[in-house]
Amino acid sequence: MFPLGYVLDVIQEGVWDWDARTGKVERSPGWYRMLGYPVDSFDNNVLTWENIIHPDDYPRVMDVFEAYIRGATPKYEVEYRCKKRDGDYLWIVDHGNVVERFQDGSVARMIGAHTNVHEQHIAQQTLQQQNKMLLEDNFNLENVIRERTRELEALNRRLERQMEQSRLDANTDTLTKLHNRRKFDEELEKEISRALRYSSAMSLVLIDADFFKKINDNYGHTQGDVTLKKLAQVIQAHIRATDVAARWGGEEFVLILPETKLQQAEAIANKLRMEIESTEIAGQINITCSMGVAQFVPGEHRDQLLKRLDAALYQAKSQGRNCVVCS
Ligand code: GH3
Ligand code: MG
Ligand code: MG
Repeated sequence: MFPLGYVLDVIQEGVWDWDARTGKVERSPGWYRMLGYPVDSFDNNVLTWENIIHPDDYPRVMDVFEAYIRGATPKYEVEYRCKKRDGDYLWIVDHGNVVERFQDGSVARMIGAHTNVHEQHIAQQTLQQQNKMLLEDNFNLENVIRERTRELEALNRRLERQMEQSRLDANTDTLTKLHNRRKFDEELEKEISRALRYSSAMSLVLIDADFFKKINDNYGHTQGDVTLKKLAQVIQAHIRATDVAARWGGEEFVLILPETKLQQAEAIANKLRMEIESTEIAGQINITCSMGVAQFVPGEHRDQLLKRLDAALYQAKSQGRNCVVCS
């Protein structure tokens, strides 16, 4: 016969043997050693077992045990904490099998064993904890990145708006909101190049308000400003989308008319002149304008063109104002 007692003495698992007929539970030395108790120091009944189960684990352990006893589950295996002699708890896996049944099918004898899984359990818990923290950290990091991205996008949009505004400011006359002289120079260069490239006509109109000094003298400088603004609006409203209107300076404006020959430009200027003359500008103030018109001649320098334009305007002034003179 194999000396089972010796085997039970040396194996580390804590073997238990429950006999339902007597109500007794035999426990191996390993069972006691695992928990630090002197061998055979407890009563041989089931209460001994129930008393060492961690109270938090107790209901779960009983559920698993009863389910197995009832035959509702195929095996009894459950992980829980057992109270050690020093008061600490040890994680174990308890598993067992019914080895004898009464005739009515109820359990007569059951044998099982405790296995110490404390270190694995703690390691697993630590790992789960770390995973959880990592996930949370990742989540936090993603939130931070998303938030920063949103802020950067908003900042970019603001910068773009500011840059667009700066571009506009750099090209716009503050009083009239028409293009300024700088933008006019840029546009003129472009249109001269285009006219040369496509051999197309291009004309300029220089507009100067007549006796504007009197407006200031009679109504004040502020009213003069309002008048200039209104005049700019009238000019802007009566040119084509492809034409360019700029403030040349003071009470003078200049138009670039692409794809436009001298006679057409003269007609446009005259129409505009009459429009200005008939418009009541800023409360009963009526003003007139003199205009010079010149068509770009291929080969001539822009300064020559502007000189001819200025001369035509000068002539319009000499001829009595409120008229259009072509160069
Ligand atoms: P002319 O018919 O010969 O052009 O007479 P004028 O009075 O319009 O011409 P002049 O060059 O003698 O005077 C221009 C006037 O335009 C003088 C100046 O005070 C006024 N002016 C120029 N720029 C502005 C401005 O930005 N605001 C106001 N209110 N007046 C301006
Ligand atoms: Mg002037
Ligand atoms: Mg003037």
